[in-house]
Amino acid sequence: MERRAASLTAGGFPLPCLAIVEGASDPASAAYLRQIQRQFERHGLATVRRQPERVEQSALDALLDDVAADTSVHGILVTQPLPAPLKLDAALLHLPVAKDVEGVHPWHAGVLAQGRPSIVPSTPLAGMEILKANGIALRGKHAVIVGRSPIVGRPLIQLLLLQDATVTVCHTRTVDLASVTRQADVLLLAAGRADLIDGSMVKSGAVVIDFGINVVGDTLFGDAHYASVGEVASAITPVPGGVGPVTNAMLARNLIELAERSA
Ligand code: NAD
Repeated sequence: MERRAASLTAGGFPLPCLAIVEGASDPASAAYLRQIQRQFERHGLATVRRQPERVEQSALDALLDDVAADTSVHGILVTQPLPAPLKLDAALLHLPVAKDVEGVHPWHAGVLAQGRPSIVPSTPLAGMEILKANGIALRGKHAVIVGRSPIVGRPLIQLLLLQDATVTVCHTRTVDLASVTRQADVLLLAAGRADLIDGSMVKSGAVVIDFGINVVGDTLFGDAHYASVGEVASAITPVPGGVGPVTNAMLARNLIELAERSA
């Protein structure tokens, strides 16, 4: 990644720059954003943080218009969740496709749904990268996703189909969740419920990718009960330290991709 960023600057193009647009700041998300900034700086990338003057949709939209017009910015990340009354759907109308670093714009979701990915949300991308890096083949495997959000569960459906997996999606209305998760060769958890899945819900030898980030007191938990699932699974990503750090790397890769396209 450093090489790709350096070759842009060597060619006379500006440093790839991520603008982080925050609806409002709270200590937890501020710490997370500082971590992104540090990691980006290590990759030789620039970041700027911007906040609307007021927590009002018109102020957020105006800020996005401003950042969109800024030629030094290559990618825009709108932090989620946005505080009420701010709405992401409305804000997305002010986010140009060419600067949509998180692949949340309907155009990016649309081409992904057609099996022609362009910029893909970094979290599901990180899960796929972990599977690939560990040599876990997906062709013909039964992949079960728990969660159907636009940022994790839904993009995973398409990414897994592109690898010829057979895909099942579970959600809050799924009847008898355990009977479905037990069929998974690869189980992908993105529900945001601490310890939702225990060892009795997992097939022996399954691979488990845990996207969940659940704060209970001062501690982070995934969606899997790590100890009991770890006993039956052949591999499981820990929380923290599993999908999270790879997600930031995928975000950096998306930014470089946008900067290269703009160059
Ligand atoms: P979300 O709340 O938008 O979606 C959760 C999904 O899980 C919904 O589709 C819901 O139907 C399903 N669900 C919830 N409870 C369920 C249950 N009991 N049984 C079955 N399905 C259930 O959340 P999100 O934004 O997709 O995030 C999911 C988790 O991933 C959260 O813990 C979030 O913090 C985490 N996350 C991690 C990263 C990362 O970098 N690792 C990035 C984004 C989100």
